Amino acid sequence: MPKVHSQFICQQCGYSQSRWAGKCPSCDTWNSLVETVKQVQSSRLKVQNKGKVYKLSEVKTEEKGRRGTGEAELDNILGGGLVPGMVVLVAGEPGIGKSTLLTQVATGWKGKKVLYICGEESAGQVGLRVTRLGNRKAGDVLLMESTDADEIVGKIEEEKPEMVIVDSIQTLTTSELMGTAGSVGQVRECAQRLTWQAKRLEIPMFLVGHVTKEGNIAGPAVLMHVVDTVLWFEGERSQSLRLVRVVKNRFGPTDDVGVFEMTERGLVAVGNPSKLLLAQRVKNVSGSVVSVVMEGTRPLLVEIQALTTPSAAAIPRRIATGVDFARMQTLVAVLSARAGLRLSDVDIFVNVTGGIRLADRGVDLAICLAVASAFLNRSLPAEVAAVGEVGLLGEVRKVAGLDRRVKEAKKLGYKVASAESGKSVAAAITKLLV
Ligand SMILES: [Zn+2]
Repeated sequence: MPKVHSQFICQQCGYSQSRWAGKCPSCDTWNSLVETVKQVQSSRLKVQNKGKVYKLSEVKTEEKGRRGTGEAELDNILGGGLVPGMVVLVAGEPGIGKSTLLTQVATGWKGKKVLYICGEESAGQVGLRVTRLGNRKAGDVLLMESTDADEIVGKIEEEKPEMVIVDSIQTLTTSELMGTAGSVGQVRECAQRLTWQAKRLEIPMFLVGHVTKEGNIAGPAVLMHVVDTVLWFEGERSQSLRLVRVVKNRFGPTDDVGVFEMTERGLVAVGNPSKLLLAQRVKNVSGSVVSVVMEGTRPLLVEIQALTTPSAAAIPRRIATGVDFARMQTLVAVLSARAGLRLSDVDIFVNVTGGIRLADRGVDLAICLAVASAFLNRSLPAEVAAVGEVGLLGEVRKVAGLDRRVKEAKKLGYKVASAESGKSVAAAITKLLV
Protein backbone atom coordinates (compact mmCIF):
# COMPACT_ATOMS: atom_id res chain seq x y z
CA MET A 1 0.00 0.00 0.00
CA PRO A 2 1.55 3.31 -1.02
CA LYS A 3 2.42 5.69 1.80
CA VAL A 4 1.73 9.38 1.32
CA HIS A 5 5.12 10.35 2.79
CA SER A 6 7.27 8.73 0.18
CA GLN A 7 8.15 9.41 -3.40
CA PHE A 8 10.48 7.77 -5.89
CA ILE A 9 13.29 9.99 -7.12
CA CYS A 10 15.52 9.25 -10.09
CA GLN A 11 19.16 9.26 -8.93
CA GLN A 12 20.26 10.32 -12.41
CA CYS A 13 18.01 13.21 -13.35
CA GLY A 14 16.02 14.04 -10.20
CA TYR A 15 12.62 13.21 -11.70
CA SER A 16 10.11 12.13 -9.05
CA GLN A 17 6.82 10.24 -8.96
CA SER A 18 4.73 8.48 -6.33
CA ARG A 19 5.13 4.93 -7.72
CA TRP A 20 8.14 2.78 -8.35
CA ALA A 21 9.09 2.00 -11.95
CA GLY A 22 11.88 -0.08 -13.42
CA LYS A 23 12.84 2.66 -15.85
CA CYS A 24 12.87 6.40 -15.27
CA PRO A 25 10.14 7.90 -17.53
CA SER A 26 12.18 11.08 -17.87
CA CYS A 27 15.73 9.96 -18.70
CA ASP A 28 15.18 6.24 -19.48
CA THR A 29 17.75 5.03 -16.93
CA TRP A 30 17.02 1.57 -15.52
CA ASN A 31 16.73 0.95 -11.75
CA SER A 32 17.43 4.56 -10.91
CA LEU A 33 14.27 5.33 -8.91
CA VAL A 34 14.90 5.30 -5.16
CA GLU A 35 12.23 5.66 -2.52
CA THR A 36 12.65 8.83 -0.46
CA VAL A 37 10.71 10.43 2.37
CA LYS A 38 8.87 13.61 1.36
CA GLN A 39 7.99 16.03 4.16
CA VAL A 40 9.82 14.92 7.27
CA GLN A 41 13.22 15.90 5.98
CA SER A 42 12.40 19.52 5.29
CA SER A 43 11.19 20.08 8.86
CA ARG A 44 14.31 18.34 10.18
CA LEU A 45 16.64 20.55 8.24
CA LYS A 46 15.26 23.59 10.08
CA VAL A 47 16.81 22.29 13.31
CA GLN A 48 20.25 23.17 12.01
CA ASN A 49 21.75 26.66 12.14
CA LYS A 50 20.22 28.89 9.52
CA GLY A 51 23.25 30.22 7.71
CA LYS A 52 24.81 31.80 10.77
CA VAL A 53 27.93 33.88 10.09
CA TYR A 54 30.99 33.75 12.33
CA LYS A 55 34.08 35.92 12.62
CA LEU A 56 37.15 33.82 12.05
CA SER A 57 38.43 34.84 15.49
CA GLU A 58 35.23 33.54 17.07
CA VAL A 59 35.30 30.15 15.44
CA LYS A 60 36.00 27.33 17.86
CA THR A 61 38.96 25.47 16.47
CA GLU A 62 39.89 23.25 19.39
CA GLU A 63 38.91 19.66 18.87
CA LYS A 64 35.99 18.42 20.89
CA GLY A 65 37.13 15.84 23.41
CA ARG A 66 38.21 12.72 21.62
CA ARG A 67 37.66 9.49 23.40
CA GLY A 68 39.52 6.24 22.87
CA THR A 69 37.55 3.15 21.87
CA GLY A 70 39.65 0.85 24.02
CA GLU A 71 41.18 -0.64 20.85
CA ALA A 72 44.46 1.19 20.28
CA GLU A 73 44.85 0.10 16.65
CA LEU A 74 41.33 1.33 15.88
CA ASP A 75 41.97 4.66 17.64
CA ASN A 76 45.11 5.14 15.56
CA ILE A 77 43.33 4.86 12.24
CA LEU A 78 40.42 6.99 13.44
CA GLY A 79 42.90 9.80 14.07
CA GLY A 80 43.00 9.46 17.87
CA GLY A 81 39.61 8.09 18.88
CA LEU A 82 35.96 9.05 18.59
CA VAL A 83 34.58 12.58 18.39
CA PRO A 84 31.15 13.28 19.96
CA GLY A 85 28.42 12.71 17.39
CA MET A 86 30.80 10.99 14.97
CA VAL A 87 29.13 8.34 12.82
CA VAL A 88 31.39 5.54 11.59
CA LEU A 89 30.37 3.03 8.93
CA VAL A 90 32.12 -0.32 9.29
CA ALA A 91 31.83 -2.03 5.91
CA GLY A 92 32.93 -5.44 4.71
CA GLU A 93 31.81 -8.91 3.68
CA PRO A 94 29.56 -10.83 6.05
CA GLY A 95 31.52 -12.87 8.57
CA ILE A 96 34.79 -10.99 8.16
CA GLY A 97 34.89 -9.65 11.72
CA LYS A 98 32.87 -6.42 11.84
CA SER A 99 30.62 -7.58 14.70
CA THR A 100 33.61 -9.06 16.53
CA LEU A 101 35.48 -5.77 16.47
CA LEU A 102 32.45 -3.77 17.57
CA THR A 103 31.63 -6.24 20.35
CA GLN A 104 35.17 -5.71 21.60
CA VAL A 105 34.67 -1.95 21.45
CA ALA A 106 31.31 -2.19 23.26
CA THR A 107 32.64 -4.31 26.09
CA GLY A 108 35.91 -2.43 26.28
CA TRP A 109 34.21 0.84 27.24
CA LYS A 110 34.35 0.06 30.92
CA GLY A 111 31.73 1.76 33.04
CA LYS A 112 30.23 3.52 30.04
CA LYS A 113 26.72 3.01 28.77
CA VAL A 114 26.71 1.43 25.32
CA LEU A 115 23.55 0.66 23.33
CA TYR A 116 24.05 -2.30 20.98
CA ILE A 117 21.29 -2.75 18.40
CA CYS A 118 20.87 -6.40 17.42
CA GLY A 119 19.17 -6.29 14.04
CA GLU A 120 20.55 -9.59 12.77
CA GLU A 121 21.18 -11.69 15.84
CA SER A 122 19.26 -12.19 19.07
CA ALA A 123 20.54 -10.56 22.23
CA GLY A 124 21.45 -14.09 23.37
CA GLN A 125 23.74 -14.61 20.38
CA VAL A 126 25.53 -11.34 21.00
CA GLY A 127 25.86 -12.31 24.66
CA LEU A 128 27.44 -15.61 23.61
CA ARG A 129 29.98 -13.76 21.51
CA VAL A 130 30.89 -11.54 24.44
CA THR A 131 31.49 -14.63 26.57
CA ARG A 132 33.50 -16.29 23.79
CA LEU A 133 35.71 -13.20 23.55
CA GLY A 134 36.37 -13.67 27.25
CA ASN A 135 34.80 -10.45 28.46
CA ARG A 136 32.21 -11.24 31.10
CA LYS A 137 32.36 -7.87 32.79
CA ALA A 138 30.20 -6.27 30.14
CA GLY A 139 27.20 -5.52 32.31
CA ASP A 140 26.93 -1.94 31.09
CA VAL A 141 26.15 -2.88 27.51
CA LEU A 142 22.46 -2.58 26.68
CA LEU A 143 21.30 -5.00 24.00
CA MET A 144 18.23 -4.03 22.02
CA GLU A 145 16.59 -6.38 19.54
CA SER A 146 14.99 -4.16 16.93
CA THR A 147 14.86 -3.50 13.21
CA ASP A 148 12.70 -0.38 13.47
CA ALA A 149 14.84 2.71 12.90
CA ASP A 150 12.32 5.07 14.51
CA GLU A 151 12.00 2.87 17.60
CA ILE A 152 15.81 2.90 17.88
CA VAL A 153 15.96 6.69 17.49
CA GLY A 154 13.40 6.91 20.33
CA LYS A 155 15.37 4.51 22.51
CA ILE A 156 18.55 6.57 22.06
CA GLU A 157 16.60 9.64 23.21
CA GLU A 158 15.31 7.78 26.24
CA GLU A 159 18.52 6.02 27.31
CA LYS A 160 21.07 8.68 26.26
CA PRO A 161 23.86 6.10 25.89
CA GLU A 162 27.49 7.17 25.46
CA MET A 163 27.91 5.05 22.35
CA VAL A 164 25.55 3.35 19.90
CA ILE A 165 26.37 0.32 17.73
CA VAL A 166 23.91 -0.67 14.99
CA ASP A 167 24.39 -4.20 13.63
CA SER A 168 23.46 -3.94 10.82
CA ILE A 169 22.03 -0.97 8.93
CA GLN A 170 20.73 -3.30 6.20
CA THR A 171 18.25 -4.91 8.60
CA LEU A 172 16.54 -1.65 9.56
CA THR A 173 13.39 -0.10 8.12
CA THR A 174 11.25 2.92 8.74
CA SER A 175 7.50 2.45 8.36
CA GLU A 176 7.34 5.67 6.35
CA LEU A 177 8.83 3.91 3.34
CA MET A 178 7.41 0.90 1.53
CA GLY A 179 10.69 -0.65 0.50
CA THR A 180 12.08 -3.77 2.12
CA ALA A 181 15.03 -3.81 4.52
CA GLY A 182 18.28 -3.42 2.62
CA SER A 183 16.77 -1.47 -0.27
CA VAL A 184 18.68 1.67 -1.18
CA GLY A 185 15.85 3.95 -0.02
CA GLN A 186 15.49 2.26 3.37
CA VAL A 187 19.23 2.03 4.01
CA ARG A 188 19.73 5.70 3.24
CA GLU A 189 16.72 6.97 5.15
CA CYS A 190 17.41 4.84 8.25
CA ALA A 191 21.07 5.93 8.26
CA GLN A 192 20.02 9.57 7.94
CA ARG A 193 17.63 9.31 10.88
CA LEU A 194 20.20 7.62 13.10
CA THR A 195 22.93 10.07 12.07
CA TRP A 196 20.64 12.99 12.80
CA GLN A 197 20.02 11.64 16.31
CA ALA A 198 23.73 10.95 16.91
CA LYS A 199 24.63 14.53 15.93
CA ARG A 200 21.82 16.06 17.94
CA LEU A 201 22.75 14.23 21.14
CA GLU A 202 26.50 14.19 20.35
CA ILE A 203 26.73 10.42 20.73
CA PRO A 204 29.34 8.52 18.71
CA MET A 205 27.78 5.78 16.59
CA PHE A 206 28.99 2.76 14.61
CA LEU A 207 26.91 1.39 11.74
CA VAL A 208 27.69 -2.08 10.36
CA GLY A 209 27.21 -2.30 6.59
CA HIS A 210 27.56 -5.49 4.57
CA VAL A 211 29.30 -5.73 1.23
CA THR A 212 28.80 -8.71 -1.05
CA LYS A 213 31.61 -10.92 -2.30
CA GLU A 214 31.11 -9.56 -5.81
CA GLY A 215 32.01 -6.11 -4.49
CA ASN A 216 28.42 -4.98 -4.67
CA ILE A 217 28.44 -1.89 -2.52
CA ALA A 218 24.94 -0.57 -3.20
CA GLY A 219 24.18 -0.21 0.49
CA PRO A 220 27.51 1.18 1.70
CA ALA A 221 27.98 3.39 -1.39
CA VAL A 222 24.78 5.18 -0.48
CA LEU A 223 25.85 5.31 3.15
CA MET A 224 29.27 6.79 2.48
CA HIS A 225 27.77 10.24 1.91
CA VAL A 226 25.72 10.12 5.09
CA VAL A 227 28.40 9.11 7.60
CA ASP A 228 31.56 10.89 8.78
CA THR A 229 33.97 8.01 8.55
CA VAL A 230 34.12 4.75 6.60
CA LEU A 231 36.21 1.79 7.71
CA TRP A 232 36.58 -0.99 5.17
CA PHE A 233 37.40 -4.55 6.22
CA GLU A 234 39.61 -6.61 3.90
CA GLY A 235 40.90 -10.14 4.14
CA GLU A 236 39.98 -13.74 3.38
CA ARG A 237 37.55 -15.38 5.77
CA SER A 238 39.61 -18.56 5.60
CA GLN A 239 42.73 -16.72 6.72
CA SER A 240 43.45 -14.83 9.89
CA LEU A 241 44.73 -11.49 8.59
CA ARG A 242 42.35 -8.50 8.49
CA LEU A 243 43.08 -5.06 7.11
CA VAL A 244 40.84 -2.22 8.22
CA ARG A 245 41.20 0.62 5.77
CA VAL A 246 40.02 4.20 6.34
CA VAL A 247 38.40 5.26 3.07
CA LYS A 248 36.71 8.39 4.38
CA ASN A 249 37.32 10.42 7.52
CA ARG A 250 35.90 13.84 8.30
CA PHE A 251 37.83 13.94 11.57
CA GLY A 252 41.24 12.59 10.64
CA PRO A 253 43.54 11.28 7.96
CA THR A 254 42.30 8.87 5.29
CA ASP A 255 44.29 6.10 3.69
CA ASP A 256 45.44 4.73 7.01
CA VAL A 257 45.27 1.02 7.61
CA GLY A 258 44.88 -1.02 10.76
CA VAL A 259 46.17 -4.57 10.72
CA PHE A 260 44.53 -7.24 12.87
CA GLU A 261 44.69 -10.98 13.27
CA MET A 262 41.51 -12.96 13.91
CA THR A 263 42.09 -15.21 16.89
CA GLU A 264 39.89 -17.24 19.25
CA ARG A 265 39.88 -14.25 21.57
CA GLY A 266 38.77 -11.87 18.83
CA LEU A 267 40.67 -9.37 16.70
CA VAL A 268 44.16 -8.61 17.92
CA ALA A 269 46.37 -5.82 16.52
CA VAL A 270 49.36 -7.18 14.63
CA GLY A 271 52.69 -5.55 15.42
CA ASN A 272 54.54 -7.05 12.48
CA PRO A 273 52.08 -7.70 9.64
CA SER A 274 54.83 -8.23 7.05
CA LYS A 275 56.09 -11.23 8.98
CA LEU A 276 52.59 -12.66 9.19
CA LEU A 277 52.02 -12.11 5.46
CA LEU A 278 55.19 -13.95 4.50
CA ALA A 279 54.95 -16.67 7.17
CA GLN A 280 53.78 -19.36 4.77
CA ARG A 281 55.95 -18.39 1.84
CA VAL A 282 57.73 -21.19 -0.02
CA LYS A 283 61.13 -19.97 -1.13
CA ASN A 284 63.02 -20.68 -4.36
CA VAL A 285 59.93 -21.61 -6.32
CA SER A 286 59.13 -20.03 -9.66
CA GLY A 287 56.14 -17.68 -9.73
CA SER A 288 56.66 -16.19 -6.29
CA VAL A 289 57.95 -12.62 -5.86
CA VAL A 290 57.96 -10.46 -2.74
CA SER A 291 57.23 -6.74 -2.96
CA VAL A 292 56.94 -3.87 -0.50
CA VAL A 293 53.76 -1.83 -0.81
CA MET A 294 52.71 1.31 1.03
CA GLU A 295 49.39 0.98 2.83
CA GLY A 296 48.78 4.52 3.95
CA THR A 297 51.99 5.47 5.71
CA ARG A 298 52.85 1.89 6.52
CA PRO A 299 55.17 -0.25 4.39
CA LEU A 300 54.06 -3.87 4.07
CA LEU A 301 55.82 -6.88 2.58
CA VAL A 302 53.51 -8.95 0.40
CA GLU A 303 53.92 -12.00 -1.78
CA ILE A 304 52.74 -11.94 -5.39
CA GLN A 305 52.15 -15.35 -6.94
CA ALA A 306 51.72 -16.11 -10.62
CA LEU A 307 50.90 -19.22 -12.57
CA THR A 308 51.00 -19.71 -16.33
CA THR A 309 49.64 -22.75 -18.14
CA PRO A 310 49.16 -23.54 -21.84
CA SER A 311 45.71 -22.35 -22.80
CA ALA A 312 43.08 -24.56 -24.35
CA ALA A 313 40.79 -21.63 -25.05
CA ALA A 314 40.73 -19.41 -28.12
CA ILE A 315 41.13 -16.39 -25.87
CA PRO A 316 43.51 -17.24 -23.02
CA ARG A 317 42.31 -16.66 -19.50
CA ARG A 318 43.59 -13.89 -17.26
CA ILE A 319 42.63 -14.00 -13.61
CA ALA A 320 43.75 -11.43 -11.06
CA THR A 321 43.05 -11.66 -7.34
CA GLY A 322 44.08 -8.75 -5.15
CA VAL A 323 45.38 -6.60 -8.01
CA ASP A 324 43.48 -4.53 -10.54
CA PHE A 325 42.50 -6.65 -13.55
CA ALA A 326 43.12 -3.93 -16.14
CA ARG A 327 46.52 -3.23 -14.59
CA MET A 328 47.46 -6.90 -14.81
CA GLN A 329 46.44 -7.01 -18.47
CA THR A 330 48.54 -3.94 -19.18
CA LEU A 331 51.58 -5.48 -17.51
CA VAL A 332 51.13 -8.73 -19.44
CA ALA A 333 51.05 -6.68 -22.65
CA VAL A 334 54.25 -4.90 -21.61
CA LEU A 335 55.93 -8.26 -20.94
CA SER A 336 54.94 -9.49 -24.40
CA ALA A 337 55.91 -6.37 -26.31
CA ARG A 338 58.93 -5.12 -24.37
CA ALA A 339 60.45 -8.24 -22.84
CA GLY A 340 59.72 -10.65 -25.68
CA LEU A 341 57.72 -13.18 -23.66
CA ARG A 342 55.23 -15.13 -25.77
CA LEU A 343 52.24 -14.93 -23.45
CA SER A 344 49.52 -14.90 -26.11
CA ASP A 345 48.68 -18.58 -25.75
CA VAL A 346 48.99 -19.13 -22.01
CA ASP A 347 46.46 -18.70 -19.24
CA ILE A 348 47.77 -16.36 -16.56
CA PHE A 349 46.76 -16.24 -12.91
CA VAL A 350 48.03 -13.59 -10.52
CA ASN A 351 47.31 -13.64 -6.81
CA VAL A 352 48.23 -11.58 -3.76
CA THR A 353 48.49 -13.81 -0.70
CA GLY A 354 46.72 -12.90 2.52
CA GLY A 355 43.54 -11.69 0.80
CA ILE A 356 44.57 -8.04 0.56
CA ARG A 357 43.86 -5.77 -2.37
CA LEU A 358 46.71 -3.66 -3.69
CA ALA A 359 46.34 -0.31 -5.41
CA ASP A 360 50.01 0.74 -5.04
CA ARG A 361 51.75 0.92 -8.43
CA GLY A 362 55.01 -0.01 -6.73
CA VAL A 363 53.93 -3.62 -7.06
CA ASP A 364 54.11 -3.53 -10.92
CA LEU A 365 57.65 -4.85 -11.12
CA ALA A 366 56.86 -7.73 -8.77
CA ILE A 367 53.81 -8.69 -10.86
CA CYS A 368 55.93 -8.65 -14.04
CA LEU A 369 58.68 -10.69 -12.43
CA ALA A 370 56.20 -13.18 -10.96
CA VAL A 371 54.58 -13.78 -14.36
CA ALA A 372 57.97 -14.01 -16.10
CA SER A 373 59.27 -16.30 -13.35
CA ALA A 374 56.30 -18.65 -13.74
CA PHE A 375 56.48 -18.57 -17.54
CA LEU A 376 60.24 -19.17 -17.75
CA ASN A 377 60.19 -21.52 -14.75
CA ARG A 378 63.07 -19.67 -13.17
CA SER A 379 63.01 -18.38 -9.62
CA LEU A 380 64.13 -15.15 -8.02
CA PRO A 381 66.76 -15.10 -5.26
CA ALA A 382 64.73 -15.84 -2.11
CA GLU A 383 65.69 -12.63 -0.29
CA VAL A 384 64.90 -10.12 -3.03
CA ALA A 385 61.85 -7.84 -2.85
CA ALA A 386 60.92 -6.14 -6.15
CA VAL A 387 59.65 -2.56 -6.00
CA GLY A 388 58.87 -0.29 -8.96
CA GLU A 389 56.22 1.05 -11.26
CA VAL A 390 56.36 -0.24 -14.83
CA GLY A 391 55.64 2.08 -17.77
CA LEU A 392 54.32 1.18 -21.21
CA LEU A 393 57.82 1.37 -22.64
CA GLY A 394 58.87 -1.41 -20.32
CA GLU A 395 60.83 0.97 -18.15
CA VAL A 396 61.00 0.60 -14.38
CA ARG A 397 60.14 3.80 -12.53
CA LYS A 398 60.89 4.97 -9.04
CA VAL A 399 58.08 5.00 -6.48
CA ALA A 400 57.34 7.15 -3.46
CA GLY A 401 58.48 6.10 -0.01
CA LEU A 402 61.39 3.99 -1.23
CA ASP A 403 63.46 4.60 1.90
CA ARG A 404 60.71 3.32 4.14
CA ARG A 405 60.17 0.30 1.93
CA VAL A 406 63.86 -0.56 1.97
CA LYS A 407 63.92 -0.26 5.75
CA GLU A 408 60.90 -2.51 6.23
CA ALA A 409 62.33 -5.09 3.82
CA LYS A 410 65.63 -5.07 5.69
CA LYS A 411 63.88 -5.86 8.96
CA LEU A 412 62.79 -9.19 7.50
CA GLY A 413 66.06 -9.88 5.74
CA TYR A 414 65.02 -8.78 2.25
CA LYS A 415 67.00 -6.64 -0.16
CA VAL A 416 65.01 -4.33 -2.42
CA ALA A 417 65.47 -4.50 -6.18
CA SER A 418 64.10 -1.30 -7.68
CA ALA A 419 64.63 1.05 -10.63
CA GLU A 420 68.34 1.26 -9.77
CA SER A 421 68.93 -2.46 -10.15
CA GLY A 422 67.33 -2.72 -13.58
CA LYS A 423 66.32 0.16 -15.83
CA SER A 424 63.85 -1.98 -17.75
CA VAL A 425 61.66 -4.99 -17.08
CA ALA A 426 63.64 -6.97 -19.65
CA ALA A 427 66.91 -6.11 -17.84
CA ALA A 428 65.39 -7.01 -14.47
CA ILE A 429 64.25 -10.38 -15.81
CA THR A 430 67.74 -11.15 -17.18
CA LYS A 431 69.42 -10.01 -14.02
CA LEU A 432 67.15 -11.45 -11.35
CA LEU A 433 65.70 -14.66 -12.75
CA VAL A 434 68.17 -17.49 -12.56
ZN1 LIG B 1 15.78 9.97 -14.62
